[in-house]
Amino acid sequence: MKLLPTTIAGSLPKPAWLAEPLALWAPWKLEGNALEQGKRDAVRLALFDQEHAGIDVVTDGEQTRRHFVTTFIEGLEGVDFANRKTVRIRNRYDADVPMVVGPVARRHPIYVDDARFVVEETARPVKYTLPGPMTMVDTLYDGHYRSREKLAAAFADILNEEARAIAATGVAVIQFDEPAFNVYFDEVREWGMATLERAAAGLPCKTAVHICYGYGIKANNDWKKTLGSQWRQYEETFPLLARSTLDQVSLECANSHVPIELIGLLAGKDVMVGAIDVASDRVETPEEVAATLHAALRHVPAERLLPCTNCGMVPLSRDLARGKLRALAAGAALVRRELTGQG
Ligand SMILES: [Zn+2]
Repeated sequence: MKLLPTTIAGSLPKPAWLAEPLALWAPWKLEGNALEQGKRDAVRLALFDQEHAGIDVVTDGEQTRRHFVTTFIEGLEGVDFANRKTVRIRNRYDADVPMVVGPVARRHPIYVDDARFVVEETARPVKYTLPGPMTMVDTLYDGHYRSREKLAAAFADILNEEARAIAATGVAVIQFDEPAFNVYFDEVREWGMATLERAAAGLPCKTAVHICYGYGIKANNDWKKTLGSQWRQYEETFPLLARSTLDQVSLECANSHVPIELIGLLAGKDVMVGAIDVASDRVETPEEVAATLHAALRHVPAERLLPCTNCGMVPLSRDLARGKLRALAAGAALVRRELTGQG
């Protein structure tokens, strides 16, 4: 793999014929067999856009799921989607969520066929994303376990089964998305990190975790305004992650108030440095991307830096997302050229 291989946090916008544009969690516009075909065509387009922009480690753009957590949970037993309860998500906004009504179980593979498809459709290394156990717990009302820790442990075992099957399709990286790690620091310390390691245990591919400040939606933007001029949330979790079994950490750097030196707390890990702001409608210049990477390089060796996006790009327009993919690759190429003499 070349120096500074680029990748993305995970999601990309969906085509307008598959789901409503510019919306999170938009319902599907197709049904039945047409929906299955449509999702696959959307994955092909997501790969095309990444490859043509020059992204090195590609994803399926999460084109086959409506929501990064609930689509996975829909495949499980023990959760009632008809009886919904209102809960507060990450202490930030209320949402109607499904209810855990019995032991949770995975009776069949969930994303394994999707993972096999994306691996077959590209010659590039593939990263596949799954929700993290703590974030899954935070997206449900628990009427059975009555314990966030116990429910998370049950999810970790389910995720591990699914991740082993996904790894067997040939993906290079499995990434768990844990935005909840930026909110529940005591729980991360007490059981969250161990539960994440349980989900990632024994995988033959690289393992990663993505911890961010969320999509550029209003509830998240309002929350960010309360965090002050320096966002030090990562300071709580990075020392724990540095000692963990996870190989890679994806974090938010572009246009954020995260003090960049916090990356230094991740010594020994590969760092996916967010150099693209997903909460802005402006395409970064390659020079701006390069400046973020330069700042990161003061705290992480070049061999361990993977230029990335801050978070998923699903709520953006496709043109904007394509522009940002190109900017990411071009900015990484600038820095690569400085370091190696080759773009
Ligand atoms: Zn994110």
